[in-house]
Amino acid sequence: MSERDVDLFVIGAGSGGVRAARIAGGYGARVTIAEEFRVGGTCVIRGCVPKKLYVYASRFPHDFEDAAGYGWALPEPSFDWRRLVANKDKEIARLEAAYAANLEKAGVEIVRSRAVLEDAHTVRLVATGERVRAAHVLIATGAHPTSGAAIPGIEHAISSNEAFDLAELPRHILIQGGGYIALEFACIFAGLGSEVTVVYRGQNILRGFDDDIRAHLRGEMERRGIRIVTERTVTAIEPKGEGYLVRLSGGEAREVDRVMFATGRVPNTAGLGLEAVGVGLHANGGVVVDDYSRTAVPHIYAVGDVTNRVNLTPVAIREGHAFADTVFGGRPTPIDHADIPTAVFTEPEVGTVGLTEAAARAALPAVDVYTAVFRPMRVTMSGRETRMLMKLVVDGSNDRVVGCHIVGHDAGEMIQLVGIAVRMKATKADFDATMAVHPTAAEELVTMRTPTARHRRQAAE
Ligand code: NDP
Repeated sequence: MSERDVDLFVIGAGSGGVRAARIAGGYGARVTIAEEFRVGGTCVIRGCVPKKLYVYASRFPHDFEDAAGYGWALPEPSFDWRRLVANKDKEIARLEAAYAANLEKAGVEIVRSRAVLEDAHTVRLVATGERVRAAHVLIATGAHPTSGAAIPGIEHAISSNEAFDLAELPRHILIQGGGYIALEFACIFAGLGSEVTVVYRGQNILRGFDDDIRAHLRGEMERRGIRIVTERTVTAIEPKGEGYLVRLSGGEAREVDRVMFATGRVPNTAGLGLEAVGVGLHANGGVVVDDYSRTAVPHIYAVGDVTNRVNLTPVAIREGHAFADTVFGGRPTPIDHADIPTAVFTEPEVGTVGLTEAAARAALPAVDVYTAVFRPMRVTMSGRETRMLMKLVVDGSNDRVVGCHIVGHDAGEMIQLVGIAVRMKATKADFDATMAVHPTAAEELVTMRTPTARHRRQAAE
């Protein structure tokens, strides 16, 4: 068994690990990265990227519908699920190769093996038994889907991992969960032609998002034929014929041919040897780190979903980059997790940044809210029933825009740009002074003049 030394050993070649390895390599560090599955991690292989490809696929029916209003006559369109899966596989393989090539260009050695800590400076490659001595270790192992409580028949439920590669498009799929993944897949499958039922345990989907966004999205999804069953959970899954009988709390049951759970994800920390070397874990399994992503062991760091801070790809990438700058670039760089813009790629899309109306009211004595709900121009000629929602949340004491929430076409694209303004502490007056781009949907953001709500906290007597 050989032994060798590296400056940095990265466990996990997902978004955070790959970025950290490349940047550290660029600073001249000798870097090895280990990956037990495929280079690219959740985002590239079975997350954001294939998801967005499927989102594109699922939206064509609306284009076909709108086209008629603009004078086009199309032959009856048909959809081939297997072709979509095969083309997705090709694109993901291309991206995986590009990721590996970029690592190699930066001088990073890739080892295709699970890696575990044997002691605080020794990593063992499970595939070969080889041991590597590392001056620094970065844990970037991501997270995996969890299906919550063990209910009878839980083995029949798939997660998003399997949903990408089903042999057939489901005729009727039941999805448990009301967060990003449940709702994105609900819209994908509905757009592709499946009957979809969403089962969510709370009162309304997308907990934590602005209440107007939650209500608006729910209405839009229901308008598209997605059944949303709230205040219910799946209690049992029983095989029946070619599909399943799904029992819900409250006594109802649904017959479907697929059941998917999207009930959150848990950090991949098991069996890595972290606790034995003194790395602390939160009760939820996430690695405890400081603002520089450093664990309780000074030369061991962790970035991305394994830390369970803000579980988004761009955040993992930023954390990985900041780690490399801090440790190998001589530039200590803390991460600011405030005002992160994010999108939910439902149909219609959700884009959001900053405070919800409720959070602003809890934090600030004066809050002004500007809301616009309107029919986007694109559908005026096709007659398709859909409404956009735009909402600005403003700090009434200094006019700063502290939150922006959008539901509608290209909300993700818009919120990326609004995110810059919000981070720069733009005021509502700055928004108003910005000339509109006409005719667009986004111009609403700079033309809302009259508050739809003004909240003033009464001073305590
Ligand atoms: P989320 O945390 O977004 O949603 C989990 C959902 O499952 C919630 O509705 C939650 O309910 C529900 N839930 C949790 N446990 C149970 C249970 N035991 N029984 C019934 N329901 C349960 O997780 P996801 O899995 O959807 O996604 C994981 C993370 O990945 C996201 O939080 C996000 O950070 C990231 N992501 C980002 C995307 C993007 O940027 N577009 C796309 C996909 C994922 P409750 O609300 O009541 O807790």
